Amino acid sequence: KSFEELGLPKSINDGLLAMNFKKPSKVQETALPLMLANPPRNMIAQSQSGTGKTAAFVLTCLTRVDLNQKTTPQALLLAPSRELARQIQGVILSIGQFCGDLTVVAAIPGAVARDTKVEGSIVVGTPGTVIDLIKRNQFDTKNLKVLVIDEADNMLDMQGLGDQCLRVKQKIPRTTQILLFSATFPDKVMSFAEKYAPSANQMRL
Ligand code: AMP
Repeated sequence: KSFEELGLPKSINDGLLAMNFKKPSKVQETALPLMLANPPRNMIAQSQSGTGKTAAFVLTCLTRVDLNQKTTPQALLLAPSRELARQIQGVILSIGQFCGDLTVVAAIPGAVARDTKVEGSIVVGTPGTVIDLIKRNQFDTKNLKVLVIDEADNMLDMQGLGDQCLRVKQKIPRTTQILLFSATFPDKVMSFAEKYAPSANQMRL
């Protein structure tokens, strides 16, 4: 199957072509139809790095975001480190390079001011900085359509990050689609995932 057959908009296909992504990886071919289906359903996915998981959740975010609406964030992606958040931001900007005026805010320490409102279609950040902005009313979550948790296993291995992810979840609309990715699912991660993304499609690859 091609990316076009998966129902992605032309602007996104052009971005994939520019990156020389000719056809979907196995993870993308399996996960995208589930993640893009309407009405949206949560997803818990096991996949290692190197499988194309980043592009899979980035494509879902770009497809669901209305780029004409640039002030209130519509997709939020949480990563366990600043470096990973930056990498994901880069992937969004590359795949979205033909999607028009795309603003992707990095909500990581040092990159955002704590007393300035977050304005952009997509936010990628670390949980502590994101919950801090929400608590200070600088991050309006009411229009969030998608929330992605990347590397949930690493998130839970780091002091406080799992709790901060839970606090973010308490502040988003009940209708927000939650996509949770992890390389491994020991019991602790699985029970966190099932609480975090209820009634999810579960995928192991
Ligand atoms: P990830 O699993 O997200 O760490 O991605 C692994 C690598 O695969 C990254 O360097 C991507 O740029 C690349 N990649 C992801 N999807 C595709 C695709 N459909 N075709 C070719 N390369 C891809």
